[in-house]
Amino acid sequence: MKNLENLHLRNSFIRELDNRFYARLAPTPLKGSHLIAFNPNAAALLDLPAEEAQRGEFLRYFSGEQALPGSEPVATLYAGHQFGHYVPQLGDGRALLLGEVVNQQGQAWELQLKGAGITPFSRRGDGRAVLRSSIREYLCSEAMHGLGIPTTRALCLTGSTEEVYRERIESGAMLLRMAPSHIRFGSFEVFYHRRQFEPLRELADYVLRHHYPQLEPGPEGYLAMFAEVSRRTAELISQWQQVGFAHGVMNTDNMSILGLTLDYGPFGFLDDYDARFICNHSDYEGRYAFNNQPSIALWNLSCLGQALLPLFGEPRAQAAEAANQILDEFQGQYEQHYWQGMATKLGLESLGREDESLIQGLLDAMQQQGSDYTLTLRALSHYDPDDAISHTGLRAQFPGAPFASWLERYRSRLQQEARPLPERRSKMLAANPKYILRNYLAQQAIDAAEQGDYAEIETLHRVLQRPFDEQPEYERYAAPPPEWGKQLEISCSS
Ligand code: AMP
Ligand code: MG
Repeated sequence: MKNLENLHLRNSFIRELDNRFYARLAPTPLKGSHLIAFNPNAAALLDLPAEEAQRGEFLRYFSGEQALPGSEPVATLYAGHQFGHYVPQLGDGRALLLGEVVNQQGQAWELQLKGAGITPFSRRGDGRAVLRSSIREYLCSEAMHGLGIPTTRALCLTGSTEEVYRERIESGAMLLRMAPSHIRFGSFEVFYHRRQFEPLRELADYVLRHHYPQLEPGPEGYLAMFAEVSRRTAELISQWQQVGFAHGVMNTDNMSILGLTLDYGPFGFLDDYDARFICNHSDYEGRYAFNNQPSIALWNLSCLGQALLPLFGEPRAQAAEAANQILDEFQGQYEQHYWQGMATKLGLESLGREDESLIQGLLDAMQQQGSDYTLTLRALSHYDPDDAISHTGLRAQFPGAPFASWLERYRSRLQQEARPLPERRSKMLAANPKYILRNYLAQQAIDAAEQGDYAEIETLHRVLQRPFDEQPEYERYAAPPPEWGKQLEISCSS
């Protein structure tokens, strides 16, 4: 076990890459910093005992007041396609990479302080993050982890008395997030579009060395890396779709080179099932609508593929052909993972030929009746085709013809499988979460926190760590949203 002073931070960005990739600078602390939330699970990944959070130094290190021993903070450079348009320079405008910690298992975790003040990449921004959105990122990243979905993690959240101006006056906060890497598709795009192919290659080599060590630098290795990023992204998006998660801002600068869920902004989980759900109030055209996410991921991957093209060897036409072959596999990989995952959610042992249509039928029925996506699947996990009571119970919860006729279909499909009921039920309960971070739940925690009460953040965090388990004392967190909770408007501003 370690303490804060012997975390042995190192910064391999600085050691291995020069200042074309980043700018070095220290965080700018906020006035009146205080600790709001601490996550012992993330601390354990750093071999850091939970008691360390009680020390005054903990607050000072993670609110940017004092430098952690060994930390050499940098803001990294990247560009990206935002809402389909290329923006030549973005970069960490409010986040600083403090360095990495290598734990006992030899895993390296980057520590990133978000909301740490203006950087050379801040453009017109103030370098700050508000309490509201920091709470949302803190809770959601840990909720996604609880759901088994690859994501950045959150170590702690600090608040302040400093005013930050958004649509209204809010207070500034800082989030310490962790990931093996925060490198984005846009980290490559910036060098491609500047025609700087040497740093492009250096960055690719860095990523291979640290994150894909089984691959060798060279055209084959770079292509294999692209294929792996593409495969991981297909899987990630399939997990989002299965759990009803909409990211909201799938710009290429928010797409992780490791296939992690990255940059939580105006995200939302589906309440009532609506395939066209748009969680980001600033997304007027619905580019990032729920059901567009797989095709947007592919579009983003094609931007990455283009950026990496100079590394894929000569002749260029052949390299492009190889990249296109990788992109051509995306849809199949996505669909295979998605339908298989949905079949598991429906308790099916194998994915039969008619099952895609069966699953789609359920989604269509939910869409028609405005059924809650999470609650419907959870209730279905308790369904017993031979028990008229469970049958009527379900009908009571989901009235209407579309659902009743779908249930008949489902019932006869289940009869084709030999799987015993208790087994099916336990598999379904392990695949259909009871607790998700609904917008209204996050909002309740935010409202209380803005009044200085942080207990709700703690409770939600606890509940969402075990989203598949029955937690009778927290039954109320599984409730569908009240009317006000369905109409929350979440914009890009954070
Ligand atoms: P996002 O939409 O949060 O992914 O951010 C897009 C770009 O804007 C990134 O380069 C961010 O670092 C930058 N950015 C977002 N908010 C701020 C802010 N308040 N101050 C400075 N830069 C910001
Ligand atoms: Mg971003």
